[in-house]
Amino acid sequence: MSTVFFDLEWNQGYPRSEADKIDEILQIGAYRLHDWQDSGDAFSAWVKPTIHKKLHHQVKKLVPMEQAELKKAGSFRKVAGEFFRWCGKDASFFTWGTCDARVLDTNLCWYGMEQYLDLEIYDLQRAFDLLVLKTVHQTSLEAAVSALGLESQMLFHDAGNDAHYTALIGAELVRRFGALPSEAELDRIEHDLREVQRLEAASLARGDLDILLQEEQPVISRRCGSFADVRDGLKSRSARIYHCPECDGLLCSGNWYQLDNYYVSRSRCGEHGKFLGVMTFREDRLHRHQGQLCVYPEEVLPDDLFRLCRQGGRRIEVNQIPRKHRRPSSSRRRRKPDQKNRKGENQVRQ
Ligand SMILES: [Zn+2]
Repeated sequence: MSTVFFDLEWNQGYPRSEADKIDEILQIGAYRLHDWQDSGDAFSAWVKPTIHKKLHHQVKKLVPMEQAELKKAGSFRKVAGEFFRWCGKDASFFTWGTCDARVLDTNLCWYGMEQYLDLEIYDLQRAFDLLVLKTVHQTSLEAAVSALGLESQMLFHDAGNDAHYTALIGAELVRRFGALPSEAELDRIEHDLREVQRLEAASLARGDLDILLQEEQPVISRRCGSFADVRDGLKSRSARIYHCPECDGLLCSGNWYQLDNYYVSRSRCGEHGKFLGVMTFREDRLHRHQGQLCVYPEEVLPDDLFRLCRQGGRRIEVNQIPRKHRRPSSSRRRRKPDQKNRKGENQVRQ
């Protein structure tokens, strides 16, 4: 059984039609390892484009190949066929990220090669991110090579070289961590990592909110009423709607994020920037919740506070503000039923 790392270079169209949206493969590169040792054998072939007649200007910058040269390359069916024969039966496949797998599938479908659609493809980028950098951000191949201290003398953005780099990273991960985690294990690692990050963000946000409420003077500070339930308070107009202190325009805050006893949400004035609303509740003797709103302008907030609240807090969604019940105006009240506009009636009468 062979271990195949592959990488693709592709061209994109200028979106006008469905075909223009297809990312058309221009090069298939692969590197095959034996027993996860560093050295193996390589595959690289260019593909003659048939979908997009021109190289996209972004692609031109990356791909070291002229359009005229590409026209002499083999067809996709021929190159892909050679590639899968080279991989052999029962190969296991690895790529950097998930894009290559998606692009390969689209091209296989386009050229009627559905027999290769069921490949199991392992995302080595995700394993690297979670195991080495302990992050959920997607690291570029070049940055990963550098982070692992691997040699980087080959040019990047050539499918053959990038596949080789991916293989070197794979071998290095196996050397450091043993057998690569399964997808289910990666899911678990990611879940645990996100939880650690969430708790860290929550702790930082709570600390910042403590200081903010102690040290800064809010531009709005008001009681919002008494509520049977905290959620009712958060949904109320008195907690969510206030006036911009600069221009008096009406502002409406969005979803809340709960950090212990703080409930935080944000609103925006087109002219005067963003405002942070912080609700707190005090339970009275009758077990009702007395809401207090403090609003702060962005200038006095610590960097990143709202992002930390969003990352670390428990999200409490709010819907549209309920409309105030309006008494019908006197003219509406006087209108007789037969004067109402009905579907199909002439709407311009009156
Ligand atoms: Zn304003």
